[in-house]
Amino acid sequence: MKAKNSYTIPIPKEMLQRIDRMSSPAHVGKLQHAIDFIAPLGTPVLAAAEGVITYVKDDSNIGGPDPAYWSYSNFITIKHSNGEFSRYDHLDFKSSNVRLYDKVQVGETIARVGLTGYTYLPHLHFQVFIFTGYNIWTDFETIEVNDFERII
Ligand SMILES: [Zn+2]
Repeated sequence: MKAKNSYTIPIPKEMLQRIDRMSSPAHVGKLQHAIDFIAPLGTPVLAAAEGVITYVKDDSNIGGPDPAYWSYSNFITIKHSNGEFSRYDHLDFKSSNVRLYDKVQVGETIARVGLTGYTYLPHLHFQVFIFTGYNIWTDFETIEVNDFERII
C-alpha cells in the first residue's frame, strides 16, 4: 500500500546522523514500519505533524540494550486529524514540554532524545500507527509513512 500521509522529520536536520529502518531487532510484526532517527542525547524531538497530545510518559530514567527495559521507555503520542497517531520513544527523563491534550504544531519541540527503555544507542524511535482496538500496548498497527530519506 502506498503511503498517503505526510510527516516531517521529527529531529532537526542538522542534528540527524542517519535514518535506520532495519537494524533494530525490535522492528518486526506490529512495529515493522517504525523508523529510528539516530541523533545525540538531548537533541530536540519535534512533532512530525500537528495534532493533540494523547499520551506522555517521561518519569523513567533507565534503559539499555536489553528487552528487559522494554516498558521503561519514555514516550509521547500525538493524534492527527486523519485518524493516525505518531509515537516518539526513548525520550530523556523529565524532558517533555507538553501535557496531555495539548495541541501542538508541526515542528514544535515536544521532548529530547534520551536512552530510556530498550535502546542500544541514543536515537528517536518514531512510528505512525492506527488503533485496532482500545489497548495502547497491544491494539495497534504501525503504518508506512512518507519517504524521509528523499527529503533530507
Ligand atoms: Zn526503533
